[in-house]
Amino acid sequence: MGLIVQKFGGTSVADSEKIKNVAKAVIKEKLNGNDVIVVVSAMGHTTDNLVKLAFEITNKPSEREMDMLLSTGEQISMSLLAMAINELGYKAISLTGLQVGIKTENCHMCARILDIETTRVKKHLSEGNIVIIAGFQGVCEDNEITTLGRGGSDTTAVALACAFKADRCDIYSDVEGVYTADPRVIKTAQKLDVISYEEMLELARVGANVLHPRSVETAKPYRMPMRVRSSFKLDDLGTLIIGVDEMELNKPVTGLACDSSQIRIVICDIEDKPGNAAKLFNLLASQNLSVDMIIQSYARNSKNTNDIAFTITKSDVEKFNALKDDINKILNASNIYIDEDIVKVSIVGAGMIDRPGIAAKMFDILAKEKINIKMISTSEIKISCLVEKQYSEAAAKALCTAFNLDGAKIADVKGDLPV
Ligand code: ADP
Ligand code: ASP
Ligand code: MG
Repeated sequence: MGLIVQKFGGTSVADSEKIKNVAKAVIKEKLNGNDVIVVVSAMGHTTDNLVKLAFEITNKPSEREMDMLLSTGEQISMSLLAMAINELGYKAISLTGLQVGIKTENCHMCARILDIETTRVKKHLSEGNIVIIAGFQGVCEDNEITTLGRGGSDTTAVALACAFKADRCDIYSDVEGVYTADPRVIKTAQKLDVISYEEMLELARVGANVLHPRSVETAKPYRMPMRVRSSFKLDDLGTLIIGVDEMELNKPVTGLACDSSQIRIVICDIEDKPGNAAKLFNLLASQNLSVDMIIQSYARNSKNTNDIAFTITKSDVEKFNALKDDINKILNASNIYIDEDIVKVSIVGAGMIDRPGIAAKMFDILAKEKINIKMISTSEIKISCLVEKQYSEAAAKALCTAFNLDGAKIADVKGDLPV
């Protein structure tokens, strides 16, 4: 007998009919002769609605209370699914992160899983139960409830799969698999049969929100086979995620993603001398501000100063504003610009290693579309360009065509547009 972990996202459990549909998918896996652990997200837009409610009460909700609030979403769907499975004549029990013993860091709203207690779940499985576990939540010291960050149920599922040495972790969603680009934006994006952990991790980090990046990060060292598949087409095997060394790399670029969650900040006229960049980024780090792209201009003016530009997440803008006076005082900058109208367009592919000319081709395509590049960053298997937000779709479409990422078939996406 094998063990399969299945995860169902918000769209898959959006209403009672869909929960009944999920119950059938779970039982189908049980009837294949497997033990089944199921992880569920909150129903539909429940988490967004809970966030909205909190901000109707206060502009600064405490992170602890946000975790108390948001963790309730998954508790609704897990118990309803257990009832739906019971109703079809099978044994099921639902458990919260606390009841399982999903131990996390001491941090609210973005905690990492440190350890998973296996005793209780094993006992329920051995009694013939399907075990349904609330995604996205855990507990830290003193049994305080924590959450893993938005989209974190994927990570709960993979962490459980690794802890219980499952045969596979299936992530069921409203798409038929991982596509070469977001199929809601690029209707002709192609479904991938297989993608490597390395490429999927880069894609998820640069904005392909089909998977929580930490879920792929967790699966990779354990070589946990993951599938992204549709809860509306159960016979479709979706996309398999495996090691890059197990794949044939035919194309230089595997996928593309756009991320409009960042803003660009430019600090003007910082004296060009050792230690100034360190002062700036230490200040940012002191407020837990994560920086993504960084560019420092070449000092060639008579004042011997240069500009430093970098990007941070939009949601951190208040934290940055609180630092502005300190930055001016310490670095004597002539001006600080904040540019919110940007999008980061990235291409990803393990096949670009040792293949020169991919960056040149990307810049060429953007130039032909008359799109100006504001910042560039690269890794071994990724090239990102920051451009004006109005060009997001044009850039994505042109790059998909140039790198053979689109096909004839129109992608099938079931859910509502994310809010
Ligand atoms: P769930 O609620 O099941 O976790 P998500 O909304 O988190 O679902 O993820 C699925 C969505 O991810 C799709 O509806 C799709 O719009 C988006 N997406 C972005 N990039 C990709 C991609 N490369 N392949 C597939 N889906 C993608
Ligand atoms: N319900 C949480 C969210 O909407 C976690 C998840 O769905 O993965 O972000
Ligand atoms: Mg998700």
